[in-house]
Amino acid sequence: MVNDYERARLRMVDEQLVARGIKDPRVLSAMGRVPRHLFVEEALRDRAYGDHALPIGERQTISQPYMVALMTESLALKGSERVLEIGTGSGYQTAVLAELAARVYSIERIAGLADRARRLIASLDYRNVTIKVFDGTYGWKEQAPFDAILVTAGSPDVPAPLTEQLKEGGRMIIPVGDRTTQILKKVTRTAAGIEVSSMTGCVFVPLIGGHGWLAEDA
Ligand code: SAM
Repeated sequence: MVNDYERARLRMVDEQLVARGIKDPRVLSAMGRVPRHLFVEEALRDRAYGDHALPIGERQTISQPYMVALMTESLALKGSERVLEIGTGSGYQTAVLAELAARVYSIERIAGLADRARRLIASLDYRNVTIKVFDGTYGWKEQAPFDAILVTAGSPDVPAPLTEQLKEGGRMIIPVGDRTTQILKKVTRTAAGIEVSSMTGCVFVPLIGGHGWLAEDA
């Protein structure tokens, strides 16, 4: 039987994703499956399928569904990839990636968020996800190279270690700009070198770290 959350989720897919041009059937069906309402606190569950970001504590956010879909679609995942995500946050985007790739490595700098996401991801029985607490601007050297890298926080520039950890043919999606507004960039490693293209404007919380911004209050 379809419950209210499932109904809201399918409406989200139709009205926010398909209507705005998201086409990859695998992305649409993954976002039709992942129970986004479980990734926000109970008091916000009724708003989980709305067309907006929501707070997840620690002054961080779960991204707007359309932004999750756009970034994920741009990675063109087929199912066999090893993916690195920087900024686990609630773990929602991690779960969407876990539906679409072979292995997902996700890094979060705030231990409380990483712990909560790890527990939720395990309770939903995703077995292809590893989450660690670290400064993701350095990437995950031991697991590199990656077919795809997704950065879900805004960076002043593309962190060099992340570009270095892309496989040939690999692609990275990353918001680049100032601390409040950014442009979504697609970085591709080809045999000839690195290609960078701009996608659209966006608003993400800052990427804090050695190759990102200084700590929030500095
Ligand atoms: N993808 C998340 C979701 O679905 O809930 C939303 C992520 S939120 C917009 C950005 C996250 O990036 C925050 O949880 C923040 O703590 C994290 N972050 C910021 N700088 C980081 C860094 N250097 N390494 C790892 N995580 C970082």
